[in-house]
Amino acid sequence: MPDVTHEEWLRRARSLRLTGAHHIDGADEGGAGVGFDTVSPRDGRVLAQVADGGTAEVDAAVAAARRAFDTGPWPRLAPAERGRVLVRIAELLQERRDELALTVSLEMGKPITDAHGIELPAVVNTFRWYGQLADKLTDESPHTASNALALVTREPAGVVGAVVPWNFPLTLAGWKVAPALAAGCAVVLKPSEHSPLSALLLGRIATEAGLPPGVLNVVSGTGPVTGQALGLHPDVDVLAFTGSTCVGRHFLRYAADSNLKRVRLELGGKSPHIILPDTPDLERAAATAAWGIFFNQGEMCSAPSRLLVHSSIADRVVDSVVRRARALRTGDPLDPATEMGPLVGEAHLRRVEGHVGAGIADGARLLTGGSRTLVDTGGCYLEPTVFDQVNPRMRLAREEIFGPVLSVLTFHDLDEAVRLANDTEYGLAAGLWTSDLTTAHRVSRALRAGTVWVNCYEEGDMSVPFGGVKQSGDGRAKSAHALDDYTELKTTWIQL
Ligand code: NAD
Repeated sequence: MPDVTHEEWLRRARSLRLTGAHHIDGADEGGAGVGFDTVSPRDGRVLAQVADGGTAEVDAAVAAARRAFDTGPWPRLAPAERGRVLVRIAELLQERRDELALTVSLEMGKPITDAHGIELPAVVNTFRWYGQLADKLTDESPHTASNALALVTREPAGVVGAVVPWNFPLTLAGWKVAPALAAGCAVVLKPSEHSPLSALLLGRIATEAGLPPGVLNVVSGTGPVTGQALGLHPDVDVLAFTGSTCVGRHFLRYAADSNLKRVRLELGGKSPHIILPDTPDLERAAATAAWGIFFNQGEMCSAPSRLLVHSSIADRVVDSVVRRARALRTGDPLDPATEMGPLVGEAHLRRVEGHVGAGIADGARLLTGGSRTLVDTGGCYLEPTVFDQVNPRMRLAREEIFGPVLSVLTFHDLDEAVRLANDTEYGLAAGLWTSDLTTAHRVSRALRAGTVWVNCYEEGDMSVPFGGVKQSGDGRAKSAHALDDYTELKTTWIQL
């Protein structure tokens, strides 16, 4: 993002024409005049009025996807042709990255530097990666008796309903849409009511890139109406959900109450971040702990929200984390100097403040932060917050906060560290700092988490899967494994 100043982003934001329609069967529908206001958390101002999808819009989008899947060209194209369209989507996303990053920043408050430098490259890379993968997949022909030929083929699973949250609105949509399209499925995407505008842009760009009508539809609306209608729809074959554990349960019920559609869940987390006394570089570990919890305002499913530090080094690590929290620049997300923007909205900010209040009431020690800030902007800003003296029974240690609030717990030996780390209903991710390779492997095996980062946090690339265990869900985003969510295995047995 070379040399784009705060003033220039503000100017671009003023000239952005944001509209909130649905994108169904290759065209925009609904929009101005009906729907709900989408509000920017940076200043509380209305960004656009967004079409509010009810059952009629969900029915229309699913019918378009059904037609595209049952009789349209997309699932029947050579995989290399599908791949070319996905790569074209990646190219258009890249060309329009300024507008997309700005839209994301305005919608949900992510600092423009991160929207432009992290979120956009991630979604571009997602479409490119699955586009390039599309024609590299092979089916199986197992050895059988000599008078038979067995084929195990991977077939697209059908119409996919994708329901996603707002914290990485484009990346998380891409993690579902790109592998589903590569597999040959048709998709109905329901973005969060906090981030419908960037999702609509994605839908339009996909059509512009040559995706046939109906293959990617975007219906905006609320969870309990639009999301539920998609979850209950009898013509949806797979429901891929990313969001809270509580709403994940609803989707399992919707499937049970309708057509037993396959439900894949990527849910919440309360990830432990363990720092052992033999950590090679304590300052780096502390810096990573602070970055991990305050990046994206702490609105990260995998945020290392429980810092587990060995008692012998706790003071040093905690001092460093607190110093970094105090030095963090919280401010307007459109200012390239901003490191932490506002939380996504007033209701969420109040929820996070509730967790801070619960921490104080339960007897944890508030070391820094805990209060609203920049109140006169009209935005939803909270100070980076650190508690220590947290015990494992406190709400601070058990509940997902999804905000910039770190809870520090201490331990005395490795067994206690592992016990504390696993003492949660979640199992999305974990971090570990040590200089001992054997300890790294042993602890990684003992941790019940979908990802374990050693001497780093939030690292990875598209080749490795991301997802949880326990109540963090069962879906796997990224990598070739994501295709499992959007394909069915078929056996053809030919007697020779
Ligand atoms: P949320 O569960 O409130 O909403 C997610 C989506 O579900 C939205 O589109 C929403 O409109 C829809 N929805 C809400 N209620 C619904 C209902 N009753 N029926 C049908 N749909 C409904 O979550 P959120 O606040 O948007 O996002 C934060 C949560 O997402 C956190 O718990 C976070 O950990 C989780 N998350 C998980 C991952 C992951 O990969 N595991 C990634 C990002 C976020």
